[in-house]
Amino acid sequence: MYTTTEERELLQLTDELLKQVEGKDKEYWKNLSLQEAKELAEKLRNVIRYHDFKYYVQANPVISDYQYDKLFHALEAIEEAHPEVVTPDSPTQRISPAFTGEFEKVKHLAEMTSLENTYSPEDLREWDRKVKQLLGKEDVEYIVEPKFDGASVELVYEDDVLKRGVTRGDGFVGEDISVNVRTIRTIPLRAPFSKFGIKVVSIRAEVIMPKSVFRRLNREREEKGLPLFANPRNAAAGTLRLKNPTEVSKRGLDCYAYQILYSEPKELCNDLKTQKQVLEILSECGFKTPHIQKVCKNIEEVIETVLKAQEERETWDFEADGMVVKVNNICDWEKLGETMHHPRWAVAYKFPAKQAVTKLLDVVWQVGRTGALTPVAILEPVEVGGVIVSRASLFNPDLIRQKDIRIGDYVLVERAGETIPYIVAPVKERRTGEEKPITVPEHCPVCGAPIVRELDEAVPRCPNINCPAQLKEHLIYWGKVLDIRGLGESTANILLKKKLVSSIADLYYLRKRMLELLRLPGWGSKKTENLLKEIEKSKGAPFWKKLTALGIRHVGEKTAQLLAQKFKDIEELKNATFIELAGIPGIGPVTATSIKNFFAAEQNVEMIKKLEEAGFLFRRTEEEEKERELPKPLEGQRVVFTGELEHFTRKEAQRIIELLGGNPTNSVTRKTSFIVVGKNPGSKYQKAQKLGVKMLNEAEFIELLKRFSAQNEEVKEILKEKGIL
Ligand code: AMP
Ligand code: ZN
Repeated sequence: MYTTTEERELLQLTDELLKQVEGKDKEYWKNLSLQEAKELAEKLRNVIRYHDFKYYVQANPVISDYQYDKLFHALEAIEEAHPEVVTPDSPTQRISPAFTGEFEKVKHLAEMTSLENTYSPEDLREWDRKVKQLLGKEDVEYIVEPKFDGASVELVYEDDVLKRGVTRGDGFVGEDISVNVRTIRTIPLRAPFSKFGIKVVSIRAEVIMPKSVFRRLNREREEKGLPLFANPRNAAAGTLRLKNPTEVSKRGLDCYAYQILYSEPKELCNDLKTQKQVLEILSECGFKTPHIQKVCKNIEEVIETVLKAQEERETWDFEADGMVVKVNNICDWEKLGETMHHPRWAVAYKFPAKQAVTKLLDVVWQVGRTGALTPVAILEPVEVGGVIVSRASLFNPDLIRQKDIRIGDYVLVERAGETIPYIVAPVKERRTGEEKPITVPEHCPVCGAPIVRELDEAVPRCPNINCPAQLKEHLIYWGKVLDIRGLGESTANILLKKKLVSSIADLYYLRKRMLELLRLPGWGSKKTENLLKEIEKSKGAPFWKKLTALGIRHVGEKTAQLLAQKFKDIEELKNATFIELAGIPGIGPVTATSIKNFFAAEQNVEMIKKLEEAGFLFRRTEEEEKERELPKPLEGQRVVFTGELEHFTRKEAQRIIELLGGNPTNSVTRKTSFIVVGKNPGSKYQKAQKLGVKMLNEAEFIELLKRFSAQNEEVKEILKEKGIL
């Protein structure tokens, strides 16, 4: 990409620029003339681009991070002071703000096909015979590359500037994910294709998540209680479709370019002779290209290469599901052509799945942060693809039943890339009759609470919110729902670690352990006192918030409000029958079961008792009682909104309807009491017209609220805040 002379010049320029930007402030940049700003910015960009290449593509930085940051910040400052000089290919322009809406559909410049698979040397020899026959040649040269297991993208450059990045889609049309592609540092925003006489080019590349990054990401997600990615491919593909480029930029994606699909005015075959040459051009233009790109004289050399790669692949920092063998001479590509699904000039050699048979000794149940129980197989240790495996995932009880896996069975274990090993199937032929069925435990292996099963899911759960496996998550949630400032993740961690709490209720007895709190690293008297005060304050929270904080599955804010309307305290709620609960409008059998399950665990009942003894009462506050007694002008009315309101968000408007006793609903039926029509109304408007439902425009809606606000303090407050009253 850079000649030695160029490198020397760029390093010299780096030094000069570092001196030039040293100690300069906003004022200084502002006072530059437009021309000066433009020239300096362009110099900085060239230098930064070079250092990006050294750092990201070659992993061989030649200046310190500190120096790099200085140059980068100077460029940012100049561009901020003179927005006219910003260019789309400036290194500062990688991250654009989050956006809403959909990724646009774009047609590819050239079709993105799939590859034919082969699984053995014999398959490869067979393919080689076919190629030679079709070409009528005795000798054909091949090139072998890894088959990256990521998300393939089309990158289009025009006049050296990255124009767009597009997903594969159906092969013909994909989605424009440029905003995300631009955040990947190994994809140059500017690439000197013009040096090779190329004006427009469509590149095929694979966006991957390095294995090391994948492991870190999943560790972080586990800590946060987020669902894990199954493998690096899913993680890469999922990340590319996020609607938040800032988040994408943090995910550590990487990219390898491996093909030119289309170029103008230069043409494949006429101007670009071999695939090897194409890879060299890509590398020259600043892309990362495959670390294996071996040109082979014949198919035997190809076989040797793929088998060697198969041995080495564990050491690569990216997933590869095989190797790709391509005819090296591009002119032969046209002669060979394509079938409906794949080119005839390339073939994939798939690595064998890593499998082994071993004995299932036992099953243990792990309790996750949300209380979910997962079965884990304990295996007689066995080697699977170079790694000794003694545990494997069984996912959930339904899967065990479907596959009919029993303790004592010989089972087929598979390890696919980075995923944890899992059991594919039992080997039923080897059964002796001694095998035992796998049963879900009746009590939580961590805390002993009775295990429950929700109506809507396959996963058994521990319902005890103070179960050590779940307590941290619940403490954080408790703090969030009840607005206890200072009770976040780090506080939860330390309180648990130092055994200052072993139940939510212990929070309300912390004052007694003041001395221990004060001794925590970094906890002065101010911090301690503030936290205790915040905890104390939470006793005054409304009943519905306290119910929400319990974190009963399916009982979010809305359901908690319904419950607090119906039951005056937790005793009443606890004693309610399933029928009573399921009969409350807005609460169904799933939620009712979950509530019954919660109170069936005596650990939870005990904790509530302890909380009440500390003065944390689960009953309606005076305000809640008062509000209940107020007349509800919209009692029983169903209200629908369509279009945008000027004064309220949809959520706010719906909340007001609820405060006035009404029921905001989402679809228009004959039972709808009235519909509020804002700007650009949707199909609900036509439907309401057809059904003859009463309509209010925003002004009329506000008039109505003004009239009713006399009867409800909270609505009054909202209207005042909005400047309506
Ligand atoms: P498949 O979708 O399994 O038929 O495999 C075809 C896919 O392999 C292509 O769409 C590419 O995304 C991917 N691939 C990964 N590495 C390469 C490579 N070096 N050359 C060609 N295709 C590759
Ligand atoms: Zn438990």
